[in-house]
Amino acid sequence: MQLLKDRILSEGRALNEDILKVDSFINHQVDTNLMEAIACDFAEHFADMGVTKVVTIESSGIAPAVFTAHRMGVPMIILKKQPSKVLNEDLYHTMITSYTKGTNYELTLSSKYVGENDHVLIIDDFLANGEAATGAIRLLRMAHATVAGLGILIEKSFQPGRDKLERAGVHVYSLARIAGLKKDGIEFLD
Ligand code: 5GP
Repeated sequence: MQLLKDRILSEGRALNEDILKVDSFINHQVDTNLMEAIACDFAEHFADMGVTKVVTIESSGIAPAVFTAHRMGVPMIILKKQPSKVLNEDLYHTMITSYTKGTNYELTLSSKYVGENDHVLIIDDFLANGEAATGAIRLLRMAHATVAGLGILIEKSFQPGRDKLERAGVHVYSLARIAGLKKDGIEFLD
């Protein structure tokens, strides 16, 4: 998606050869016009795939997921990193290793919101090692739901996430695929 690539080139900042900061338009300040365009792209790509719900991982996936779910006319569900103190019944749990923090965290989903009749589109901001997406898929399988695919804003194609997920039979669709993060610039795959 050219609009997203242009924005990454103008405002993205490579912290090192592994991590890209996109705080000014995705992760901290959110550009809602860009989110609208992202949602149109995802909705078009995943149209006719029978998506019943959009699922994301809190917190940076929420903005693109809510726009996409609205565009597709389906509910959006947030996989929670901290289980609610008031709603801790019927929760599916799984552990994930955080790419950016290098620590483990628990991800949860209430059995109330996803079930065996759901065909779910997972949306997230980044794909690196595929830990977050794999954990989300584990939770959806616990809920007996099926996975329509994974929609990613920024895929770091030099990291193993896509391969891992495709080997597991997951359809991965990324709007910007980064070949390498260098001090002198960001290179895209195509
Ligand atoms: P994975 O689980 O695929 O290894 O990493 C994906 C998660 O880590 C995403 O949900 C995202 O929040 C975070 N992440 C991975 N790489 C980056 C990055 O380069 N920049 C930012 N801001 N977040 C990242």
